[in-house]
Amino acid sequence: MISGKTQLLGVVGDPIAHSLSPRIHNHWLSERRIDAVYLPVALKSDQPAADLRVLRRSGFIGLNVTLPYKTEAFSAASAADSLAREIGAANTLVPDAGAGWQAYNTDFTGFLAALKARTDLDSLGGAPVILIGAGGSARAAALALASLGVRLTIANRSPEKAKAMADALSLSAQIAPLSALESPGHRPKLIVNATSAGWTSAGLASLPAATHKDGLYFDLSYGEAAAQGLGLARAHGWAVEDGLAMLVHQAADAFALWFGERPDALTTLQRLRAPS
Ligand code: NDP
Repeated sequence: MISGKTQLLGVVGDPIAHSLSPRIHNHWLSERRIDAVYLPVALKSDQPAADLRVLRRSGFIGLNVTLPYKTEAFSAASAADSLAREIGAANTLVPDAGAGWQAYNTDFTGFLAALKARTDLDSLGGAPVILIGAGGSARAAALALASLGVRLTIANRSPEKAKAMADALSLSAQIAPLSALESPGHRPKLIVNATSAGWTSAGLASLPAATHKDGLYFDLSYGEAAAQGLGLARAHGWAVEDGLAMLVHQAADAFALWFGERPDALTTLQRLRAPS
C-alpha cells in the first residue's frame, strides 16, 4: 500500500523498460515490509547530472543508474567512495549528509561475484582476456579484470575511447578495433562483452573461436539484449554466462548500502532463472 510516507527508490536510464531491477528490489522491500517502492525512471536528458540531483530533492532515498548515465551519476554526487572515484563512474547513489548524493560502484563487486561463480579467479592470473567495450560498465569490468592480473586486450567500436579509458584508469592493456576480434593473435581464456551492441539490430559482428576447454564468454547484458552475443559465442565453441548473476549481485550490494542488509543473491537468481 503506497501512502504519503512511502519512500522512493528507482533505477534511472534510457532505455529502462527491460530492467529487472524493479522486480528484484520490490521483492526484497516487500519481504522486509519496508515502506518503500522502487521505480523505473526513464530519463531522456542532455543534463543528466542536474536531473539526478533534482530526483534527490524530490525525495528519492536511493537510485541505481544505468546506461547511458553512469559517468554522469558520478558527476552528480557531492562525494564518492574510493572505488567509484577510481572507476570514474557510479551505478548507485546514496543520500549524503545534506540534500545531495554520494556515489558508489557496485558493478565492480557484482561483476567479480558473478565471474567467481563461473570460473576459478586465480586461474585468470596472467591469462589473455578480451574486454569488449569502453562505456560505464566496461570501466568497472576493466578494473576488476586488472585486479585479477589478467593480460588485458580492450576492443571497442571506437578504439580511441578504449585508449582514453585505459589511460584514465592507468591500465596496461592492448587496444584493438572490433575487427581484431576475428583473429586476436592470442588465445583468450575469457571474453567479456560490456557493449550495448545487443540493443541494436546489428549486434556483435565477430568473435574468435574458443581454444580453451573452459573458455568463457561473459555478456554483461541479459534477456533479449544478450541473445545475439550468446548465440554467436556458443557457435564459436564458448561456454557462456549472461549478465543476470551480475545484476543480482550488484543489486544486493546496492540494497546493503541503502538499508544496511544484503539480501541473499543466490535465492533471487534462482527465482529469476526459474521458468515462469
Ligand atoms: P555505455 O553506453 O556506457 O557503453 C556502451 C558501449 O557499447 C561502448 O563501448 C560503445 O562503443 C559500445 N557499443 C554501442 N553500440 C555498439 C554497436 N552497435 N556495436 C559495437 N559496440 C557498440 O553502456 P554501459 O557500459 O552502461 O552498458 C553496456 C551493457 O552492459 C548494456 O547492455 C547494459 O545493460 C549492460 N550492463 C549490465 C549490468 C549487469 O548488472 N548485468 C551492469 C551494467 C551494464 P563506442 O565507445 O564506440 O560508443
